[in-house]
Amino acid sequence: MMARRMKRFLSLSGIFAGPLLALTTSCSGSGEESLSGKNVVIIVIDTLRADHLSLYGYGRETSAGLSAFAEDSIVVESSLANAPWTKPSMASMFTSLYPSQHGVVEEETSNRLADSLLTFPEVFAEQGYQVIGFSENPHISKGRGFAQGFERLSLKPGFQADSEWVLSGAKKWLRTREEGSPFLLYLHFLDPHGPYEPKNSSDFLGNLQSEHKLVKAGLVGKLVKDGRLTEELSQTDRDYLIALYDAEVREITQDVSQVFAMLQQHGLSDDTIVLLTSDHGEELFDHGSLKHGYWLFDEALHVPMIWRIPGLGARHVGTAREQLVRHIDVAPTLFELLGFEAQTHFQGRSVVPLLRGESMPPVPHLAESSWRGINRQAVRDGGWKLIVDELSGRAQLFDLDSDPSETIDLAAEQPDQVARLRELLFHLTRMPSGVRVEGARGEVDVEAEDALRAIGYLGEE
Ligand SMILES: [Zn+2]
Repeated sequence: MMARRMKRFLSLSGIFAGPLLALTTSCSGSGEESLSGKNVVIIVIDTLRADHLSLYGYGRETSAGLSAFAEDSIVVESSLANAPWTKPSMASMFTSLYPSQHGVVEEETSNRLADSLLTFPEVFAEQGYQVIGFSENPHISKGRGFAQGFERLSLKPGFQADSEWVLSGAKKWLRTREEGSPFLLYLHFLDPHGPYEPKNSSDFLGNLQSEHKLVKAGLVGKLVKDGRLTEELSQTDRDYLIALYDAEVREITQDVSQVFAMLQQHGLSDDTIVLLTSDHGEELFDHGSLKHGYWLFDEALHVPMIWRIPGLGARHVGTAREQLVRHIDVAPTLFELLGFEAQTHFQGRSVVPLLRGESMPPVPHLAESSWRGINRQAVRDGGWKLIVDELSGRAQLFDLDSDPSETIDLAAEQPDQVARLRELLFHLTRMPSGVRVEGARGEVDVEAEDALRAIGYLGEE
C-alpha cells in the first residue's frame, strides 16, 4: 500500500495542478499547433540494428517499407539502447532508469518489472489515455510486469514470430475503439530476431549456399556458447546468415508499413505521434560472434529511432557523435511533447530541441548487461567508450572517433581515461532518490519460459 502511494506521489505530483502545459510547435504555414492530447503509436521492431537499414546507409535495400514514413519524419542517427537484450532494454525505455536501477536484468521469468516503479504507460493512463499493446515477445508481457498502465497488453500465443498477429490486432482495435479519448498504442514485433527464417531471401542470397547443417537448419543459436562461436564458420556461411537476417529486416519493415497505412485510413496521421525503434541490435560477426545479450559493442546497441511528430517536420538529427538519443530519453521526450509533468527521478532527458534541429549539450551513454554469469557495463562520453567486465575486472577502452568499429583496446595506454570513465559509470548508476524497487521477483511462468526457449533464451542455445 505504501509503495503504491509513493508511486502515485512520484507519478502525479503536480499533474492535476492546472491545465496541461502543451508544447507548441512551429507548423509552417499553419501557425502554432498544440500536441496536447495527440495519440501516440510506439513501434518496436525487435533485434534491428540501425546499420542494416538502407535508411541508415546500408548497401542492401532493406528498408523500402519505411521510406515514405521516414521522408515525413525525424530520423535520429545516433540512437542507443541501454541494454543488449529485450527485457532490461525495454524496462529502461519504460522507466527512464538504467538496468541496474530498475533491476530487470535476469532472463528468468520470475524477474519482473517492479510494481513500485513508474512506467510511462502508467502516466498516459493517468492522463486519460486508452493504453493498448500487442506484443510478440514473451519478455514484454503482463507476467514480466510490463502491463502496468495498460488497459490491455496482449501477448501472442505460440512460439513462432508472426507480424500478422500484431497487425490484425491493431487493425481490429483501431476499427472498434471507442472514440473520445486519445490512445497510446504499443506494437512490439519479434522479427528479425533469430531464427532467421525470411519468406523470401533469394535476391539477397544469390548463389550463396551453406553446407553447414546447423546454418542450413537455421539453428544458429547452437553455434554460440558464452557469447562465442563454438566452431569457425566459413565466410560463405557468414554471408549466408547475414543475407537471411537482411531479408528478415526487409520483410518486417515492409509489414510495419501497414501500420502507417492503417493510421492514414482512419484519418489519424495528423493527430498521432509515431515512434519507431528497436530494443537492441544483433551481433553479426562484427566481433566474432552472433546473436545478442553478451556484448556491449555498438552492433548490439545502435538502433534506429524515427519520430513522426505532427508539426515538427522532417530531418536527420544526431549525426554528430555527441548528439546521442538514448532509450531512457524516450519517456521524458514524450512527456514534454504532450505536456505531461516532468519526472525528476528520470535518468534520461527530453530531446525535443534536438528533434527540432537544435543542438543540445552532450550526454554520456550507459548500457548494462547481466547475462548468464557475466556482468558488463559500457559507458561512452564524447568520443570515448569504456566496457567493463565486473567479474574479471577487465576494462576495454575505445576511441570511437578513430576506431568506430571498437577493435583497438587503448585501456593500457590511457589509464586516465579509464579512471575517468569508471568514475562516471559509478555516478550514473547510483539509485535516484525516491525510487524504490519492490516486487521485482514474481512467479516462474512455465508457459512463457517455453516460448522464450523457442527463441533462444534460458540457455536454449
Ligand atoms: Zn529483443
